[in-house]
Amino acid sequence: MPTLFLNYINGQYVNAKSGRTFPNINPASTDEVVGLFQDSGTEDVHAAFDAAARAQPGWAALPAPRRGEYLFKAAEILESRLAKLGEEMTREEGKTLPEAKGEVKRAINIFRYFGGEGARAFSYQIPSERENVFCYTLRKPLGVVGLITPWNFPSAIPAWKMAPALVGGNTVMIKPASLAPLSAYRLVESLHEAGIPAGVLNYITGGGGSVGNAILEHSALRALSFTGSCEVGNQLHRKMAGRKVRIQLEMGGKNPTVVLRDADLDYAADILVNGAFFSTGQKCTACSRAIIEKVVYELLVEKLLTKTRKLKVGNGLEPGIDIGPAVDSNQLETDLKYIEIARNEGAQLLCGGTRVAGGAYDKGYFIEPTIFAGVTPEMRIAQEEVFGPVLALMVANDFDDAMRLANCVKFGLSASIVSRDLARVHQFINRIEAGLITVNLPTAGVEYQLPFGGTKESSFGMREQGPAALDFYTETRTVYLKYTQ
Ligand code: NAP
Repeated sequence: MPTLFLNYINGQYVNAKSGRTFPNINPASTDEVVGLFQDSGTEDVHAAFDAAARAQPGWAALPAPRRGEYLFKAAEILESRLAKLGEEMTREEGKTLPEAKGEVKRAINIFRYFGGEGARAFSYQIPSERENVFCYTLRKPLGVVGLITPWNFPSAIPAWKMAPALVGGNTVMIKPASLAPLSAYRLVESLHEAGIPAGVLNYITGGGGSVGNAILEHSALRALSFTGSCEVGNQLHRKMAGRKVRIQLEMGGKNPTVVLRDADLDYAADILVNGAFFSTGQKCTACSRAIIEKVVYELLVEKLLTKTRKLKVGNGLEPGIDIGPAVDSNQLETDLKYIEIARNEGAQLLCGGTRVAGGAYDKGYFIEPTIFAGVTPEMRIAQEEVFGPVLALMVANDFDDAMRLANCVKFGLSASIVSRDLARVHQFINRIEAGLITVNLPTAGVEYQLPFGGTKESSFGMREQGPAALDFYTETRTVYLKYTQ
């Protein structure tokens, strides 16, 4: 019998009022139910909001460094269980074990970083133009905040929202993605064991349309941080219009890597393989377009194909696997649908393109890493997010043409360039329309201590992570104090 996981409301583990559960399935081996989770609804969300609203004044009154101590304790608990949590993540999401353990480690680092922010949440002291007047700002919490997270980084994303929200003095209501709710559950459990006061943190599982919607509609909601698809993010944006709720949306990408003529082509091929195919291409920052200067195109493509053909697809728990499965049958179908669309639009399939089948593969959602050549900007494969291991190759006549191709999409999450030409690199940094810019690195691979977020249709609102995160989760108050009468 699979393990039953409960909601966490007001410091207690409780069943959903509906009495129903839903299964969390291993995408590499669909016979395995990783756990049963609560299929919650509006009543559960209201109970969590009541608890969070009651707990908020007491939590806000606790000095911020002491709020941070709960995160330090939770980080220690998580660290002692890192191997087990990594394995669970591979089972629920499909990414390889080294990737999963790396993500748990990242969540631990995030807890430690924001634990420290409790003692570093700086405000400003600014000179007044009047005599004997002392002016400064204060940071105040917002109240109850709602966090809605996706399945692809099931530990890191909940961690990078929860930790600054808590240390900022807010109480939290988190709804993880239904495809991978266990990793966020483990974060919540670590904070419970660290002794976080009842009601400060609440975790509820269930569908986006039910739990997600009930969070949005609750009158006590003061801020909403969402990471997920543009489709859902844009719906939430419209629903929140006119309400005085702070909102942060992190959404999709169509991220380019530009390779210039002077690049080390072996190095560039490694960067493309890493950016496009690791984590099965299921990263918002994954590279899905390689824009290559014409003079080096043929040679680079040859190297890229050699490296891609060596990648091993399989169950991420097994050693030596490079690419795990798609997260579910819907994502696999989306990947295959875009491959079909690309073929029909005239792109040339260089490798991959099919589901990996036979034997144990039949129990999972495995797909070959796929490369298309001859992709032109008007094709859907050049414009739309696939969210799978599918890379579109585009030829640029020169640097200006590469910039035109790189910027001709509605998205603007991440972008990279491979070049040793310092002038070109700086021109790229100035002209590229992306929130995250990397040089001689893959488009993916962000660190928790720097701000993160995109531009154009990829993001809306303030940045996440690093010192910027606390700006979203706190409000500035301005004080003018005349110390004589
Ligand atoms: P999704 O389908 O948009 O779901 C994201 C979250 O929203 C889930 O918890 C989902 O719940 C919930 N949700 C769905 N419908 C909702 C509604 N009507 N009201 C409120 N909540 C609702 O995205 P996903 O498939 O989980 O994640 C993949 C997407 O996330 C990709 O587009 C990727 O690029 C993006 N992403 C962006 C970033 C970034 O930082 N920019 C990072 C990672 C991923 P259910 O799971 O219950 O449906």
